[in-house]
Amino acid sequence: MSDLEYSPSDIIARKQAGKDLTTGEIAWFVENSARGRIPDYQLSALLMAVYFRGMSLRETRDLTQAMIESGKVLKLSSVRGTRVDKHSTGGVGDKISLIVGPLAAAVGVKVPMVSGRGLGHTGGTLDKLESIPGFKTGLTPARFERVVREVGISIIGQTGQIAPADRKFYAVRDVTSTVRCQPLIVGSILSKKIASGADALVFDIKCGKGAFMETPADARSLSDKLSRVAAMMGKKVVSVVTRMDEPLGLTVGNAMEVRESIQVLKGKHVGDLLDVTFAIGAEMVLLAGRAKTRAEAVTLLRSALLGGKGFEKFKEMVRAQGGDTRAIEDPDRLPSARYHVNALARRRGYIKGIDALEVGRIATVLGAGRLRKEDDVDHGVGIEFLKKTGAKIAKGEPVAVIHASSPARGKRCARMLEEVIEIGAARPRPRSVVLGRVRAGRIEKIRLPKS
Ligand code: URA
Repeated sequence: MSDLEYSPSDIIARKQAGKDLTTGEIAWFVENSARGRIPDYQLSALLMAVYFRGMSLRETRDLTQAMIESGKVLKLSSVRGTRVDKHSTGGVGDKISLIVGPLAAAVGVKVPMVSGRGLGHTGGTLDKLESIPGFKTGLTPARFERVVREVGISIIGQTGQIAPADRKFYAVRDVTSTVRCQPLIVGSILSKKIASGADALVFDIKCGKGAFMETPADARSLSDKLSRVAAMMGKKVVSVVTRMDEPLGLTVGNAMEVRESIQVLKGKHVGDLLDVTFAIGAEMVLLAGRAKTRAEAVTLLRSALLGGKGFEKFKEMVRAQGGDTRAIEDPDRLPSARYHVNALARRRGYIKGIDALEVGRIATVLGAGRLRKEDDVDHGVGIEFLKKTGAKIAKGEPVAVIHASSPARGKRCARMLEEVIEIGAARPRPRSVVLGRVRAGRIEKIRLPKS
């Protein structure tokens, strides 16, 4: 590829005019951006043009392919069986990967999982895992392959070698408000997942106030693009759409979410978490060919949960990635915050909603999340809900406990949280957190056997 083959400003101008870019133009722009030969201002201009003009499926496939080719592609050839990764499009209190990954591995699915860090109001699996003393998320490709082969699951971060163009693009998108753009999201997610050796992918497409995709129509459209581009690349994708209007589970915050995941893996039932776990897990088991029907897949997962196999698998993974398993046996050893402040109900009635986006922002103020990529997170802080939507509440009764690093911040965040807890006179109708599986452009209800 010659450096003079294309001109960045011509490519930007063509996209600004709404033209489709050629495969060669996309490959050239991606490679040269990843190598630092195209300045960030030109990359920003192209990203903004794509944001407004979009990309066809062919262009999105070319973008994904070019991003994959910007780095190393892991074959994981020593790992037998279908390798299935799972990805959530980002939420608040979303600890499903920590629960479903080990459960799926416990029933024989091979799970090479590449996860991300929290950014903005959303949490990240890597930050949660790094609250376990010693846990390493930056394994070499050879070690990653060994852990997937021997344990059945490994969860790592995107290394500099995997899809480096995505890292470059994502950093620029983050500061140019071009993250919420479907072709760019598809290229970003698929490139790192495919480059990490997955044969099949299950997407948890979050939809609602605290998600990138606010409406079911947006969720369907993203799912459609993900599966069509993945199919063009010979990979299977299944998408499940789940609600992200209120935080998932009872905790938001890194070590607090690890503790809650351990509780779930020890068989302590928590409603919405288990619903999402079984919906996603069943698709992983089916894609790996470990069960013939969804009911059979859920039965396998449930017996792995109740028999403690998922918990043992989680411990095995923690050990294999250098983590201190004593903190898994005794979660009091995980980081915790010194100060606890209650957030109280401002009136009596029923909780109508707890805005996930606002909760994510409050968690960031506490230090659990980051505003900029380079910020550090405080692993011990977070929010613990005592009640969630639908619960009856008396005026002045605690709804949540803020775990903070200082009394002042705890009080400030408790008052902020009180404002985003909506209370009404009537009990709201219960709604399932799992909207369904996307098939032929529609969201179909999933029938899961009752817990
Ligand atoms: N997650 C990603 O990995 N990339 C995006 O662009 C958005 C969410």
